[in-house]
Amino acid sequence: MTEISTKTLSLEEVRELARSVLVAAGVDARGSAVLADIVTRSERDGPRSHGLRMLPVYVQSFTSGYANPAASPKVERIAPGVLRGDGDNGYYQLAAGVARDELIAMAHENGIASFTCANCHHLAALRFDTEPLAEAGLVALGVVNSLSMVVPQGGVRPVFGTNPMSFACPREGAEPVVWDQASSMVALMDIRMAAAEGHDLPRPAGLAPDGQPTADPDAILETRSLLPFGEHKGAAIAFLIEVLGAALAGGTLSVDNAKRVEHGALNIKGGSTLIAIDPARFGNPGFDDYVKRICAEIEGNGTARVPGDGRLRNRATAQQQGVVVSTELLSQLHDLQ
Ligand code: NDP
Repeated sequence: MTEISTKTLSLEEVRELARSVLVAAGVDARGSAVLADIVTRSERDGPRSHGLRMLPVYVQSFTSGYANPAASPKVERIAPGVLRGDGDNGYYQLAAGVARDELIAMAHENGIASFTCANCHHLAALRFDTEPLAEAGLVALGVVNSLSMVVPQGGVRPVFGTNPMSFACPREGAEPVVWDQASSMVALMDIRMAAAEGHDLPRPAGLAPDGQPTADPDAILETRSLLPFGEHKGAAIAFLIEVLGAALAGGTLSVDNAKRVEHGALNIKGGSTLIAIDPARFGNPGFDDYVKRICAEIEGNGTARVPGDGRLRNRATAQQQGVVVSTELLSQLHDLQ
């Protein structure tokens, strides 16, 4: 593995660095604060591949004119449990921030409510979309489609995005359970990070130019053809996310990425759906005990852990010790300020 020179930053330094890079790219005060917060949370909790390393991708999307640096999202309630958003060609997190209080109120009122959003970009981990709902006592499921890179089982060209999903639920007396995962075997940013750090992936995660599965990140970045997780099962989940994300929200299908290429951008405007469920309205007063019981069966069971709890360990360490960042990335970011 290549030796990397590093520097430790506090979380406040991360936030300020991210904010100043975004402001220099022309992003307005609200947008830069929201995105800097997402970048800081990624550095704090993971996945760090979606933290500071993602800033040049955000910047390119703004400076190329692909994303709107002064987006003013609109949110409209179109049915008792349906909140529909238009991201004004900005980032999803701005629209989600506008929708959140109303979505929570609708879920409490109806038992279940959804927020769909189109005309928006998403470059972050989905855990930050679902966690606030679980903190408000709700069960949450979030999906977003992205740009076509995942090959369906047996296929020869990508159809699906790396289409991530996230699930969160309250856990009485503790932080919520929150997990998120891509539909690809490995998230694209982790492949880029392995390529930048000069090492192979832990397992074959995409196709090499000869069509064979490989763990070499450079070969995968050349074909841009990733394997789904769990073979046909992961491909089926990616299909579900394409429907719930793009089709339901009216966002761009992962295969329709021509606009992105015009701008030289690395992301596309997909679509997203966030479903919020109030367990208190579902008629089982023992909901919290069920969640506790499931977690208890996992904890202390060999080396198993509750999915997503790694973020809590990362959070504690980052809050105490800050985060270690490569000086090469820092110098790239300082050039963008
Ligand atoms: P991982 O495979 O790294 O992790 C998936 C989930 O499993 C995480 O919640 C992780 O949380 C948890 N986990 C990992 N190891 C274990 C374990 N041994 N036991 C129990 N739980 C475990 O994620 P992916 O590579 O699939 O995705 C990376 C990120 O990229 C995600 O955050 C996703 O939202 C994001 N993404 C965003 C996209 C976008 O378009 N915006 C596109 C694709 C991905 P933890 O380790 O904290 O416990």
